[in-house]
Amino acid sequence: MTTLPDTAQLVAGIQSWMRCESPTRSPAGVAAMAALVAEHARALGLRVEVTPLGEHVGPLLYATNRADGDTRKGLLVLAHLDTVHPIGTLQDNPIRIEGDRLYGPGGYDMKAGIYLALSALAGLAEPGATRLPIDFLMVPDEETGSHASRPHIERYAGQARYGLVCEPARAEGGKCVTARKGTGMLRLGVKGRPAHAGVAHQLGRSAIREMAHQVLALEDMTDYARGVTVSVGTISGGTATNTVPAQCNCVVDFRVPDMGAAQDVLRRMRALCAVGPDVELDIDVELNRPPMVKDEAATALLARVQGYAAEAGFALEDAPMTGGGSDANFTSAMGVPTLDGLGADGDGAHTLHEHILVSTLEQRTRFWHLLLRDLA
Ligand SMILES: [Zn+2]
Repeated sequence: MTTLPDTAQLVAGIQSWMRCESPTRSPAGVAAMAALVAEHARALGLRVEVTPLGEHVGPLLYATNRADGDTRKGLLVLAHLDTVHPIGTLQDNPIRIEGDRLYGPGGYDMKAGIYLALSALAGLAEPGATRLPIDFLMVPDEETGSHASRPHIERYAGQARYGLVCEPARAEGGKCVTARKGTGMLRLGVKGRPAHAGVAHQLGRSAIREMAHQVLALEDMTDYARGVTVSVGTISGGTATNTVPAQCNCVVDFRVPDMGAAQDVLRRMRALCAVGPDVELDIDVELNRPPMVKDEAATALLARVQGYAAEAGFALEDAPMTGGGSDANFTSAMGVPTLDGLGADGDGAHTLHEHILVSTLEQRTRFWHLLLRDLA
């Protein structure tokens, strides 16, 4: 009979991980976080590998109960070690418990999710203790798009029967996630012609004026009925008030519900052309994360996973499609049935009121234990 950690142990473990600040842009912070998680995984009896991904990003962490030579497709549990919170956020959202809420940066998204899922492997570290081999992959750069870890995620997805992702459960009932929009980014540069704004205004070609046209054209691609959004997120241009600006740049976020919509938006963005004379557009657009669609296989997986939740004592529903992307988009697009939002229950991801509901920790750990042990 395996003893899973109780609430006090789970809270203490999660708090110790929240104390280790690990913003994506601090490779040292993420490496320190990876070391803590690796230590926990080793203590559980798992085999652990830490792989450096270069000096600009933290390392990749892999933990498994897979026996050497076992090439069966297994359960790929995906998580991220990084947070959106800069070093020092511990002062702005100090670790504390108020009522049922455990506050602290990066706990809900998603250190608690990793802690629950990993701790649930207590007693299951021996090969054969779970019906399928478990591959835990924890990446250092999810919050900035998983650029360095994407090839590794896709490599492990190649040996996965199912994908299970520890992103936070949705507030209002701890719902899981079965559908996510695809996410993309456009970098648009406009090159005009500089001129003295007072002496030779007519010779200038304002890059900002041209960009104003382009911003409206881009934002007009938003189609709420279809679930497409296009948002110009940042913009900069010009050099001095008395100079007709020769340069303007913007970065645009777009979200699409399916590949058809993705192709349409990509085509329209690539076809943007200048409105005014003598200006040039530089268009660089890519779909970063393909859409995660709730297909038949995902629906069947949800039904089975709902059984484990019921056994652990709670009802697990899925939320409507969310506009936020995650690494689940990658595995899902490769045809691996994937469920996301299986991590901690709470609220306030990416904010200073981020918190976890303490009363849900034990049953969610039990849920993960059943899931990892029995799903096949
Ligand atoms: Zn997250």
